[in-house]
Amino acid sequence: PLLLQDFLKRAVYHYPQKTAVVDGERRFTYAEIETRVNRLANAFRSNGIAKGDRIAVLSPNRLEMYEAFYAAFLLGAVIVPLNTRLMPVDYEYIINHSGAKMFLVDAELAPLIEPVNTNLKSVEHYVSLQVKGFDNQNGWLIYDAMIESASHTAIYEDVDERDMATILYTSGTTGRPKGVVQTHRSLYMNAINTIIHTRAEDEDILLHTLPMFHVNGWGTPFSFTGMGATHVMLRKIDAAHIVHLVKTEGVTVACMAPTVLNMILNEPAAKTTNIRQDVRVVIAGSAPPPSFVKAVEQELGWTFLQVYGMTEVAPFITVGHIKKAIRDEGDENRIHRLKAKAGISMINVEARVVNEDGEDVEWNGQEVGEVICRSNSVMDGYWLQPEETARSIVNGWYHTGDMATIDENGYIDIVDRKKDIIISGGENISSIEVEGTLYEHPAVLEAAIIAVPHEKWGEVPHAVCVLREDAHVTEEEIISFCRERMAHFKCPKSVQFVTELPKTASGKIQKVVLREPFWKEAD
Ligand code: ATP
Ligand code: MG
Repeated sequence: PLLLQDFLKRAVYHYPQKTAVVDGERRFTYAEIETRVNRLANAFRSNGIAKGDRIAVLSPNRLEMYEAFYAAFLLGAVIVPLNTRLMPVDYEYIINHSGAKMFLVDAELAPLIEPVNTNLKSVEHYVSLQVKGFDNQNGWLIYDAMIESASHTAIYEDVDERDMATILYTSGTTGRPKGVVQTHRSLYMNAINTIIHTRAEDEDILLHTLPMFHVNGWGTPFSFTGMGATHVMLRKIDAAHIVHLVKTEGVTVACMAPTVLNMILNEPAAKTTNIRQDVRVVIAGSAPPPSFVKAVEQELGWTFLQVYGMTEVAPFITVGHIKKAIRDEGDENRIHRLKAKAGISMINVEARVVNEDGEDVEWNGQEVGEVICRSNSVMDGYWLQPEETARSIVNGWYHTGDMATIDENGYIDIVDRKKDIIISGGENISSIEVEGTLYEHPAVLEAAIIAVPHEKWGEVPHAVCVLREDAHVTEEEIISFCRERMAHFKCPKSVQFVTELPKTASGKIQKVVLREPFWKEAD
């Protein structure tokens, strides 16, 4: 069977003395990790964890998170990673919804769940992931003590590739998170695709810039463990620290949201430290403009690889691979334009763009349809939400809710989420396209376009901008800047300046939060 623990087993067998995980001062080889993981699995078992049981984890990226996944898999238990930026009520919802029996919590984050602790009925054991100087007053199990006292004998549980491995709750960019059930097989297949498309190798040093409670932050690393690469943990997004780790650890690969890449581009240390060529490939999602791709490649010297996917597909569907015929033309601008698109289907995935009747749209880069896909890595379904599952997987095709075009070479370009498209006077406006224009303005650091209600047009685009430090610009200047560059109906009718945009833990702008006040008032 295709089991996720086999990635770790391969690394242990062939690369026992290689550094597997670096977490601050701590460094462990694959051989050491194996012993620790076996001990942890035995400790889980002696605390009542059996096949199928759910173990929730609330933690920033750290060694223990890496170990807990593999220890759970050995037992056939299921990991439920939790976003660290949620509210206590969200934790209550997810823990109760998933029925987690054990709850691993980074000691520093314990206050986040304190207000709802008594409502978490299914949890039998809390396990504290210690931080220096933290005093365990609530009588939780201590992770380090569990590892120390448990046996290191290997565990042989009968796990099947169709068994659940994780329940990952979606980012919640568009609403309440849904529990996506992924099996060993679905995550395994995506890891194989990732190895092929990123050309993962044993020399690779992967920097964990994406949170490991996000499917891309966890799913992608399976590939690198399997190849015997090294994992470098990053707890908090801090551009200067990222630059430092890239240099000192010799990072070759990282997955980063464009918002994080943007921070690095604006980080003075990135200009004074020589980090060019250090990063072989930076894997990014979420449709940045071509000028941004160019800046990453030219200013940082890092190769940009676009990927498109979602929690439900574990996560990848397409990759911004540039076909040889196009590379040979040597048109840099065209290449950057294509790298900014979602790209072509990954191997093992069939992706199509279809109209409302389910027919393929024309391959002309113009006609807009929904992306649907079929692959071994599509989820089993949403946990305890059979109706939602039936709505999204129809005849074996997963419906992404993302609207896109496809060009004559088969490159898919995400136009917008179905929910974020602005419908103004019967015209569809892509919020992503308008944001691309805003980002060209020198004063704009970050921007989001949302639909706000309008008496005459139904909806109109409204811009929410964060300006660069010391930059000044007025609402009128932004609007006229847009009007010089794009059709007038697409231009924002109003502009709001803020110091920060609401984001999900993976760095995505939460437009649902921005939209809320406008639509509330309209009701
Ligand atoms: P929720 O489903 O809870 O609203 P979410 O969809 O943001 O949250 P994820 O599964 O983490 O949760 O994100 C997947 C979505 O991110 C995709 O459906 C798509 O809209 C967007 N996305 C991912 N990669 C890209 C990309 N390369 N280009 C454009 N959009 C992307
Ligand atoms: Mg989604």
